[in-house]
Amino acid sequence: MSQATENTMVTDPNIFGQLTKFDHEEMVFCNDNATGLRAIICIHNTVLGPGLGGTRFYNYANDQDAITDVLRLSRGMSFKSSIAGLNLGGAKAVIIGDPNQLKSEAFFRKFGRFIENLNGKYITAEDVGTTIKDMEYIKMETDHVVGLSENRGGGGDPSPVTAYGVYMGMKASAKETWGSESLSGKRIAVQGIGKVGEHLVAHLVKEGAKVYITDVNQESLARVSKTHNVEVVAKDAIYGLEVDIFAPCAMGAILNTENINQLKGSIICGAANNQLADEVIHGNLITSKKINYAPDFLVNSGGIINVYSELIGYNREIAYAQTENIYNQTLEIYKKAREDKSTTHQAALNIAEKRIHDYAKVKSTY
Ligand code: NAD
Repeated sequence: MSQATENTMVTDPNIFGQLTKFDHEEMVFCNDNATGLRAIICIHNTVLGPGLGGTRFYNYANDQDAITDVLRLSRGMSFKSSIAGLNLGGAKAVIIGDPNQLKSEAFFRKFGRFIENLNGKYITAEDVGTTIKDMEYIKMETDHVVGLSENRGGGGDPSPVTAYGVYMGMKASAKETWGSESLSGKRIAVQGIGKVGEHLVAHLVKEGAKVYITDVNQESLARVSKTHNVEVVAKDAIYGLEVDIFAPCAMGAILNTENINQLKGSIICGAANNQLADEVIHGNLITSKKINYAPDFLVNSGGIINVYSELIGYNREIAYAQTENIYNQTLEIYKKAREDKSTTHQAALNIAEKRIHDYAKVKSTY
């Protein structure tokens, strides 16, 4: 299984077995021979509101890898929106194939029609492999899309806001670990310097941290290391580096037994979704190694906060102010985990699940 989709969540060959395991509501398979579109929209939970989650465009090795990924990602979105206090459910879409070969106006407009057919139960946005331009094609066929450019009434690329939230989570983690939120002089390894990673690097450098970067894209590495004057390390050397903080900002499920055991730092805090290959096994391993793990779906919720703002009338200041609160929430999670003697991931999950559970009771009458 590819690194992007490694996990222990799903191996059941029965599709309903995969849906029932974490109580997913709906999975829609979209096929269009004319454009080559093959997509899966997965809605995990709509108790809090319509399912919102980006569209990932990725060349999955096989259909099961894509199903596995969309199941995991859509569930993560339910918890992310819940913990962020948004009136949104969790959903996600994946498009299977090579974005460089397949992308066209017709391709995305066709996908927009599939979204339109869901009558607002699913709202899409950008994710890995998709851009604002792609969202604009989708918008031609449906209003159920966010993450549009500012001159079209949207909030623009949510990545800078996501990066700001990760930065807030990292400062809170520093406070928890060393008693001071300052990152000045801290050695920080950033894995993946894409849309979020580069903005995070900028915040860290500005604060005086010593930043190391890695990526699979050599052009990005050369550009970012020059722009921000940071050191490049080899892809696999990032885990064993003598640093204080590891910031995973590339693909999901990257924290497994092998690389957790290589980590030297005291904090893991990054933007990638679903960082733990196995929530329980790897959450516990991180805790046993006395590493403070800032739950991914909490610290990367700045992006969903920003796109949610588009649905209620975009306001950048409010989106940033709400994202800044990730600092307090992260501190709260560390406190809760200590009190409950649980992993931080579990503590965050409990809060997110409770809000969904409580709101289901509110919804039980008209
Ligand atoms: P991106 O595609 O712009 O950047 C990802 C970067 O990771 C790319 O530069 C890619 O080359 C690199 N990469 C891929 N595999 C790698 C590997 N094995 N080692 C090192 N680098 C590798 O994506 P992004 O928007 O910056 O998102 C990064 C992560 O954060 C993703 O997991 C995404 O789901 C998550 N996230 C993003 C947002 C957002 O607002 N963009 C919001 C929440 C979560």
